[in-house]
Amino acid sequence: MAGLKIDDAKVKEAIETISGFGGEALIKCVQCGACSSVCPGVRVGFNILCRMLIKRVLTGQLEETIEEMSTWGCQACNRCTEICPQGVRPMEVVFAFRRYQASELALSTSAFGPQMSLYEKGHAVTISPEAVGENRKKVGLPEVPPTALNNEQAQKEIQTLLDNSPMADLGIF
Ligand code: SF4
Ligand code: SF4
Repeated sequence: MAGLKIDDAKVKEAIETISGFGGEALIKCVQCGACSSVCPGVRVGFNILCRMLIKRVLTGQLEETIEEMSTWGCQACNRCTEICPQGVRPMEVVFAFRRYQASELALSTSAFGPQMSLYEKGHAVTISPEAVGENRKKVGLPEVPPTALNNEQAQKEIQTLLDNSPMADLGIF
C-alpha cells in the first residue's frame, strides 16, 4: 500500500493487534477495492468494510475505528475472499476486527439480540420451532433440532460460561 510506514509504532501495533485476532493476511492488501465492489454490506451502506476497514488498520487507526458499526454488517458471504487477488481473506480481517471490538466491549446494539438469544436458547440465531417444525417433520426430522435448543443442561452451561465472561459486564443478561 503506497504511503504505508511500517516503522510507525502505531501502525505496527494495529497490524499486530488485528493479526493476533486472526487477520494476519491483511498486510498483503494492495487496496485495489475488488472486495468492496462485491460486498453486499458496502452496497447497503456499511462503508467501513473490506478495503476501507483494512486501510484503517494499515494506517494505524484502530482506536478511531473501534466504535464503527459497519463491521457488524458483514454477512459472512465470503465474496470478498473469493475475489481478492492477494489472498488477504478480507472477511477474516473483518471478523478479527470484530473480535478486537468485542475484546474492548465495543459492540453494536444490533449484536445484543443475538447475544440474548445465545444466552436464552443456546444459539445466536434461531428460527422458531413453530416456523419450521412442520417442514422438519415432513422430511422426517424432529420438530426441534437436537441441539442446545432442547437441552436444558447445555443451555445452563452456556449461561454459566456467559455469566463468567466479560460480556456479563455489559449487564445485558
Ligand atoms: S480485494 Fe484484497 S487486495 Fe484488493 S482491497 Fe480488498 S483485500 Fe485488499
Ligand atoms: S464476507 Fe462480509 S465483508 Fe466479505 S463480501 Fe461478504 S459481507 Fe462483505
